This record gives sequence, structure tokens and C-alpha cells, in this order.
Amino acid sequence: MSGPIGIAILGSTGSIGVSTLDVLQRHPERFRVTALTAHRDVEGLFQQCLTHEPEYAVMADADAAEQLRNRLQTTGRIVEVLAGVEGLERVAALPGVGAVMAAIVGAAGLLPTLAAARAGKRVLLANKEALVMAGPLFMAAVREHRAELLPIDSEHNAVFQCLPLTFATEGLDTVGVRRILLTGSGGPFRLTPLEQLPKATPEQACAHPNWSMGRKISVDSATMMNKGLEVIEAHWLFGAPPERIEVVIHPQSVIHSMVEYQDGSVLAQLGNPDMRTPIAHALAWPRRLASGAAFLDFAQMASLEFTTPDFLRFPCLELAFAALAAGGTTPVILNAANEIAVQAFLDRRIRYTDIHTVVQYTLERVNRRAIASLAVILDDDVQARTVAGEWVAAHGGGLS
Ligand code: NAD
Ligand code: MG
Repeated sequence: MSGPIGIAILGSTGSIGVSTLDVLQRHPERFRVTALTAHRDVEGLFQQCLTHEPEYAVMADADAAEQLRNRLQTTGRIVEVLAGVEGLERVAALPGVGAVMAAIVGAAGLLPTLAAARAGKRVLLANKEALVMAGPLFMAAVREHRAELLPIDSEHNAVFQCLPLTFATEGLDTVGVRRILLTGSGGPFRLTPLEQLPKATPEQACAHPNWSMGRKISVDSATMMNKGLEVIEAHWLFGAPPERIEVVIHPQSVIHSMVEYQDGSVLAQLGNPDMRTPIAHALAWPRRLASGAAFLDFAQMASLEFTTPDFLRFPCLELAFAALAAGGTTPVILNAANEIAVQAFLDRRIRYTDIHTVVQYTLERVNRRAIASLAVILDDDVQARTVAGEWVAAHGGGLS
């Protein structure tokens, strides 16, 4: 191979973005940082530009881009600063970029991640919402443009590691898969008495027992909407029908997911809960790289527990299974309503238990359509946000 591979990190100032930079920094002979992007954190992206010297930087809007340009000018660093979705799409498709880390949170990641697939890149997919929203379209783009899609979500990365390489062309049946078992820790409210949940605060919801993550996915982990989105993600990534995907609560987060085969074998991937492991795996695949993650110490390990999730405690998980079964744009509506609800909860406008109410309310009011085009997806996303926003406006008076 000639020279280091250029990497674009979409969402480089976030939790996954920072972990990705940490892995890349350990292997300067293998990788160079070509593009970094952030939403509005000018100072954060400025500091990353000084350390990692990308050729391109992208901010969400022209104003923030101008601020970053001015900051960089004083240092003499030459970085081309772009703005908006067009800027993100451009860096995702640069000829000098070999792999794109899709680590923007939420629906905002869809268009740039799709651009990376359409440019035939190696796509390291953390932004599960892109696949939840546009599964069939996204997978078709990957096939058509011969992109390499490698999952970063720890569960899907684990499943990928437990499948034979031929699964993508032959299908799960031919390679003998019976079930995909997605593990989840159950989050911070696994044992909280149900009657206390309405009073749960954003701080409590974001205090995940095993993983340190961005605030949106932390709340999703508490409600287990995250696992629901992951069921939909697994459906598209692995071509698995919903009845072949099972969720198992495993509070220790040591087994990151499993594949059960027809002959009774179960293959699992284990490791400490550190996103640098799946990131390094996807960067180096089919080889392996040191990631910086600590190694498992089996002598120190507590016993491993497994239970079945309770839909009474985790009603969002049930909604996600139902949305996948309903098909069409139902997962788009589910995802959009959830983004609005989670943000309103983080802003203390609604209660924790209202998240489920907002999503259910929205699903009942926005009509599902067939996924005929990207325009339909984007349109239903907007509609669902409007309806969910109306519920929040009517009921979310602001909590003390
Ligand atoms: P985060 O909130 O820490 O970071 C999000 C990044 O996206 C930031 O760089 C932010 O600037 C950028 N961003 C946010 N909104 C944007 C917008 N509208 N336009 C452009 N950029 C925007 O989130 P995270 O925890 O790193 O998660 C990122 C993605 O990875 C999510 O889809 C999440 O579900 C997925 N994921 C995260 C983890 C984890 O451990 N953090 C694990 C599995 C999957
Ligand atoms: Mg996950």
C-alpha cells in the first residue's frame, strides 16, 4: 500500500470522533486525518485542527465556519474551511479520503453518510440513525457504488466479527445463522422502581453504568430506544428478519453481541466496553490494530448475567420492534419523534417517561408511506418532528 490512508471524521468533536482520533494517533504510518467536522463547537474543532492538521474542516453553518477561518488564520495553518451539509458531503467524497467515520449524531448524519457510500468509500458507521431512516436506500447505494460498510456500533461490530465473510452475498440462511442476539446493559434505570421513573433527571439518564457516550445516545440507552434503533440497524446491515433478532440484557457489557447457528453453536465477541476496539477493528479490517483499549482480565471478571428486557420498563424498545415490522417510513417517524423528545427531556421541558408518550403519539398521527425516494424520507422526518414538537409545546411546560 502506498502512503497513509486519508480519513474523514464526520462529527470529530463528539465521543466517537474523539475516540477515533485517539486510535488514528497511535498509527501515523497507517492513517492521516484529511477532514474533521463539528456542529457549532468552533473552539473544539480549532484545537483538533492544530493537533491533527487536516486539509479540510467543516462547520454546520457559514457563521461558525467564518469564526473557525479567523481563528486558523492567526496560526498560519492552511486548512480549507467549508460549511453546511454541502461541505460535509464534499469531504465525505474527497478522492484523497479512503475511509469515512460517520459519527454525527441523529438524522443530520444521513446525507453526508449517504454521500460517503455513493462515493464508494469504506464507511465506518456509528451514525445508526442514518440506517434506521434510510435502510433500503442506503444498502442499495453501498451495493451499487461498491462501498465497504463496516459497523462501529459495538453490537453490530461484534455480530460482524462472528459472521463468516460470505454472509453478505449468500445470506444468513445459507451460512446457517439461526438468531442474532444483541446485548444491552439495560442502562442506568434497569433496577429503578418503575414509579420513580417519571422523576428521572437528565443527569441520571446520562450516567451510563459502563459506557461514556454523547448525551442523546445516553438517554436512548436509558429508555432502550437505542437497542430498538439497533434492532432496525441489524435488520438492514445483516439482512435479518425481525423475528431472528433478539435483545438480551447483559449488565456487565463484556459480551458485545452474539450469533447463534443452526448447529447449536453461539459465537460471541468479548472485550472491555471501549469504543476504540470496534473503531480499530473497522479501520484495520480485515487485519487488526492496537486500539489503546485495556485487555480483559478474566480472573478479575465478575459473573456474567443475562435477562430478557421488560417492555413495561422499556416501552420504547417495543415501539421500535413494531416500527420495524410496520416498515416503510415508520422507523423514520419513530426516529424523528425520539430525537425531538430526547432533546426536550434534556432541556427539562418534558419528563423522562414522556419520551415514550411523544414517540407513540407521533407514530399514531403521521401516516406511514413506502420508501419511494430520499425525498419521502426527509419529508416524513420533518412531519414527525412537527407533530412531536406540537406535543412538547402543549404539554412541556418546563420542569423544575
Ligand atoms: P456526540 O453528541 O458526542 O457527538 C456528535 C458529533 O456530531 C459532534 O461532533 C457534533 O458536533 C456533531 N453534530 C451534532 N449535530 C450535528 C449537526 N446537526 N450537523 C453536523 N454535525 C453535528 O455523539 P456520539 O456519542 O459520538 O454519537 C455519534 C453517533 O454514534 C450517534 O449516531 C450514536 O448513536 C453513535 N454511537 C455512539 C456510541 C458511543 O459510544 N458514543 C456508540 C455506538 C454508536
Ligand atoms: Mg450500541
